[in-house]
Amino acid sequence: MHSNAVRESRRTQLLVLLVAAVFILVAAALAGLVAGSIATLTTTADDIDDQRALQATSGAVHALRKQMAATLRDNAYWDDAYAEVNAETRIDWIIENWASTSADYPLYDTAIVVDSRNLPVVAYRKGVPMNVPPSVFFDDFHILLDAARRARMSDEVPVYFARSSAGTELIGAAAIQPFGSAESLDPGRFYVLVFAKLITPAVVAEVSDSFAIAGLRLDLKPTTGRLAVALKCVSSKDIAFFTWPSVAPGTKSYEKVDGHLRAAGTVLILFLCAIGVAGGLTVRNLRKSERASRHRALHDPLTGLLNRAGLLENVATASDWARLNGKQLRLHFIDLDGFKAVNDAWGHAVGDALIVAVSHRLLDALPDDAFAARLGGDEFAAVTLEELGAEAIPSFGRRLQEALASLFDIDGRSIEIGCSIGVAVSERGAVETGELIRRADIALYRAKDLGRGITIDFDDSFDDDALKQAELESQLRATLLKGGISVVFQPLINARSGAVTGVEALARWRKEDGIAIPPDVFIPLAERAGMIDLLGMQVLTTSLNAATAWPALGVGVNISPLQLKNPRFVEEVEAALKAADFEARRLTIEVTEGVLISNPEQARRAIEGLKKIGVKVALDDFGSGFASIGSLRRFGFDRMKVDRSLVAALDVDQNAGAVLQATVALANALEIPVTAEGIETEQQATAVRLSGCDELQGYLFSRPVSADAVTALYCGAEAGGRASQTGR
Ligand code: C2E
Ligand code: CA
Ligand code: CA
Repeated sequence: MHSNAVRESRRTQLLVLLVAAVFILVAAALAGLVAGSIATLTTTADDIDDQRALQATSGAVHALRKQMAATLRDNAYWDDAYAEVNAETRIDWIIENWASTSADYPLYDTAIVVDSRNLPVVAYRKGVPMNVPPSVFFDDFHILLDAARRARMSDEVPVYFARSSAGTELIGAAAIQPFGSAESLDPGRFYVLVFAKLITPAVVAEVSDSFAIAGLRLDLKPTTGRLAVALKCVSSKDIAFFTWPSVAPGTKSYEKVDGHLRAAGTVLILFLCAIGVAGGLTVRNLRKSERASRHRALHDPLTGLLNRAGLLENVATASDWARLNGKQLRLHFIDLDGFKAVNDAWGHAVGDALIVAVSHRLLDALPDDAFAARLGGDEFAAVTLEELGAEAIPSFGRRLQEALASLFDIDGRSIEIGCSIGVAVSERGAVETGELIRRADIALYRAKDLGRGITIDFDDSFDDDALKQAELESQLRATLLKGGISVVFQPLINARSGAVTGVEALARWRKEDGIAIPPDVFIPLAERAGMIDLLGMQVLTTSLNAATAWPALGVGVNISPLQLKNPRFVEEVEAALKAADFEARRLTIEVTEGVLISNPEQARRAIEGLKKIGVKVALDDFGSGFASIGSLRRFGFDRMKVDRSLVAALDVDQNAGAVLQATVALANALEIPVTAEGIETEQQATAVRLSGCDELQGYLFSRPVSADAVTALYCGAEAGGRASQTGR
């Protein structure tokens, strides 16, 4: 039951953890996917834009070269120009047509014409003659001129970039020749026209504008972190670069949403943390309630000590420990003596407070390595672990009994309580727990049997006794089932007349082997074995049946206190009376005082019920225990029977007579008649008669005799005579 709850709780905890973990994993995986996608989108967008910018810049370079080539083609492949440069007036014509325009023409700022030996005829820059020879001013100038001469009219006009003393230039050259009819001419003899244009920041800005390349710059070397397109010279070397920063639109868009993403990420992390925390808290709460329910399952709520289940679990663990460490485990079963009386006299609240106080003393007396349990009611257990062989001196049992010896103060009441202890020993934990408990139980039983306040260690011989008890019990059961309990009758004598006025029925059991078992043995046995109801009714029925033959005599029948617990007891007595056709007023039920103290309400109800149907009730064995004269009246007893011990005391104790006299006088004052039992001598008979007893019983008058003997002796022809004094 309890371990099921634990298993259930464990399963729930695992489930909670699993769900939380799965949730967190799934959420983390999704977040990872989203982050990955965003990163891919970002870099893809960046790459696409970089690619576009590269194409735009390459296109710009291409356009610059193409424009220059077209200008050169228009000016060099021209019949008029060919004629003019081959005329004497060539210098003027060149200056007028090309050189002077270099001052403010947007397509070139330098115009040079060289002759067939590559010597400059005219060289103008920004409208004025150059003061440095072009071949010095421009790198690779002659290579460009060669390329121009090699190019046929259908070929591309060579336009390249070049380093110059001023910076980076766009430069191209074309041989000046007649348009269409140059085949027959020797290109080696052509003049060559060179246009150049310095790539100024303004040029760069214009390119940047028209081609939408933000941040375009002319650099001599590529710079890390900037995209670049190389500007090549005529000998295919990279002499400069257009560079610009990557726009990285993906990154920019990312930066725009970055804040949101971060916020979302934070929310997600908080959310996952919350799930983690909630899962953790749930599991912790489950653990806590599991621990609490486990504690509840294993502990006694009143004292906080272990309960029976807790004891079993701890004994198992302690046994393992004793086995491993070579110790002996001692299990003590402790039963409080006289607790029931405290409970009955002061109520359950005081009883509970006493149990708690006892548990404190028990814990105080407990050595280290030991634990205690409350098994219910007034039963406790303690387990100690001790060295092998060595007898603990003083033993824990003795110490506990000493600890309980001093008075308890409960709500101002001084209460005395003792205990009986049964001990079972398991050396090296060799005795299995169930067996250990059985042995401690038997030892405790023995301790209580031998009188209270002692500690008894279990001995193997106890088992033989227990075996005999069990055998006896089954024999008694068999006897009862065949109605084999017989009844004898002891006469009751009128104290004044000496006449027999009634009989007390006394149960007898002779086993099949002929051995008689005394009622002091088989009555308690029947009570323990739950057979007392059956036995009691058999005695009653047998007695009533026998007594119908003695109409003048009353009949006393003994009843066990346990029979009064049967709620149908009065009904059953009534039925027995009816079945035997027996007058109720002739029957007296004898009850001992025990029931008045242990269960007064039940006793009152039963006694009232019996009186209602006309049966008399006597208080038996008065003076042997605690019953007071007051209880005689309170419960409405019809008669009191003074215990044999009071009568026997007359012989040895001088005060006994006075005590007896006072007791009987008090009863008589309440108009309750008194029987004295156990009269063995004439002196005793005289003394109890003088004390005021109206009825006498004892061996002096007669031992218990068979029903036939009663009929013959007291109900025969001379019935009603004095009781035989030869009965003993
Ligand atoms: P009790 O009710 O006090 O019965 C009287 C006991 O005293 C009887 O013992 C009887 O034989 C004994 N007795 C009578 N006169 C004398 C005497 O002069 N000297 C001595 N020494 N003893 C005398 P018994 O029959 O052994 O019964 C013992 C107890 O067993 C009874 O004590 C009664 O409490 C119980 N008992 C007997 N029969 C029944 C029964 O049918 N039902 C129940 N519940 N208890 C029974
Ligand atoms: Ca009796
Ligand atoms: Ca008695």
